[in-house]
Amino acid sequence: MIAADRTVETVSFYINGAWEKPEGLAAHPVTNPASGAVIAEVPFAGAAEIDRAVRTAHDAFLKWRNVPVIDRVQVLYRFKDLLEKNAVELAHILTRENGKTADDARAEVRRGIQMVEVACGMPSLMMGDSLNDVAAGIDCKTIRQPIGVVAGITPFNFPAMVPMWMYPFAIACGDAFILKPSEKVPLTPTRAIELLHDAGLPPGVLNLVHGGKEAVDALLHHPLVKGVSFVGSTPVAKYIYTTAAAEGKRVQALGGAKNHLVVMPDADMPKTVEAIIGSAFGAAGERCLAGSVLVPVGDAAGPLLDLLVKRTRGLNVGDGEKPGVEMGPLVTREHCQRVASYVDKGVAEGATPLVDGREAKPEGEGFFLGPTIFDNVSGEMTIAKDEIFGPVLSVMRVNTLDEAIDLVNRSPFGNATAIFTGNGKAAREYSSRIEVGMVGVNVGVAAPMAFFPFAGWKNSFFGDLHAHGKDAVGFYTEQKVIMSRWF
Ligand code: NAD
Repeated sequence: MIAADRTVETVSFYINGAWEKPEGLAAHPVTNPASGAVIAEVPFAGAAEIDRAVRTAHDAFLKWRNVPVIDRVQVLYRFKDLLEKNAVELAHILTRENGKTADDARAEVRRGIQMVEVACGMPSLMMGDSLNDVAAGIDCKTIRQPIGVVAGITPFNFPAMVPMWMYPFAIACGDAFILKPSEKVPLTPTRAIELLHDAGLPPGVLNLVHGGKEAVDALLHHPLVKGVSFVGSTPVAKYIYTTAAAEGKRVQALGGAKNHLVVMPDADMPKTVEAIIGSAFGAAGERCLAGSVLVPVGDAAGPLLDLLVKRTRGLNVGDGEKPGVEMGPLVTREHCQRVASYVDKGVAEGATPLVDGREAKPEGEGFFLGPTIFDNVSGEMTIAKDEIFGPVLSVMRVNTLDEAIDLVNRSPFGNATAIFTGNGKAAREYSSRIEVGMVGVNVGVAAPMAFFPFAGWKNSFFGDLHAHGKDAVGFYTEQKVIMSRWF
């Protein structure tokens, strides 16, 4: 039986600058993963609520696009200031609904703030090119114009940062935005948008709705939605991409991952182990950049696994709010059970558990699962193929760097990878030949900063322009070429 933790609040929609508590809609529970308690209820929008939000956004867009970019970003400067002042509170809300540790939550909020900082540079970022006298008496220039109403659909694992990959850039470009965050973690984006409201964003420029497939489908098929930014699992990303593209919309859909960490025998083993711990078990493995397959090359396996197993056994798992905790719970009971079932499957399919996360359950009703390391994992095993999205690391040993590259390139995913080595040539070779979008060299979580683009390859990404950085400016604007001649 689930007990209520404090008062159970109903999460609001934010439409046309006002907070609304919709009535008569199906509501779903939001839980605190560390205690299992229900902390809020999230109402699910249907097509009628989405239509109203989109029409509101479209009306606001018609005015917002004419506000000079220099004035648009003033809102973001004030928003950044409010985020800084409220960062600790925001991180606390994030831990309470997502489960990640307080340190991880604060780091996430910091990354979100960096997105806002980069979007504040939109007056420079939106500049076009010009060339006079491209023909006799004719000048040519390019300009960038906002595309209209953009929908953002986001996952549970970064409820502060991933929405901020999208809306600060979109609104700085002059678009209006509808955010449909994950129904598992609606409280963090709600608080962030309260701050954006306080920063003075005009009504309707950003609207927040909640829901599941029905809400998303209404956005994908709405004729006034011109662009869709999606981040989530691969099957849904593929669906979003094909559905919205068939409707003639611009789409970027970032999907799931299976990330390989390659360790050469000449790697600095203690530092590599710390990087692997952070990559595989940080945020309980619920990161699209999490390392989930460890690929020791040649003699690397012995010294690496000795150190790694020792360090993993000592990992402090518990409530993310408690000091010293290194790994929090998984986001929901269902997800925790799903990840545990992968550990069962790994054992059943013949992998060797060096550390078994099922044995390390902290007390209480939280959705805890300890870290797991499997050795002797082969390519056909389910745990080698599926994205588990939890603290489960599979070890696949190889003899040479070539074998490691072949193994990684056989994966249908291509989100992130890392190589650990003291040899620049091996690192260069790996970075060049690997079919993966984000590569770390002695970096376990190769997360591009706000001013660089973020996305994977293959089944980890559907679209063209990546998230944030200059790609975001390209995605949220349409380019126009103007040729002028004056008689
Ligand atoms: P998810 O795909 O279940 O949900 C993502 C969003 O899509 C949510 O808002 C959800 O409500 C909506 N959704 C879910 N099912 C839908 C359906 N059938 N039709 C329409 N909309 C639907 O993902 P999640 O479990 O919230 O997040 C974890 C996943 O996100 C992992 O696969 C992870 O790798 C991925 N992720 C990828 C990146 C990246 O940069 N590539 C970043 C973060 C997370």
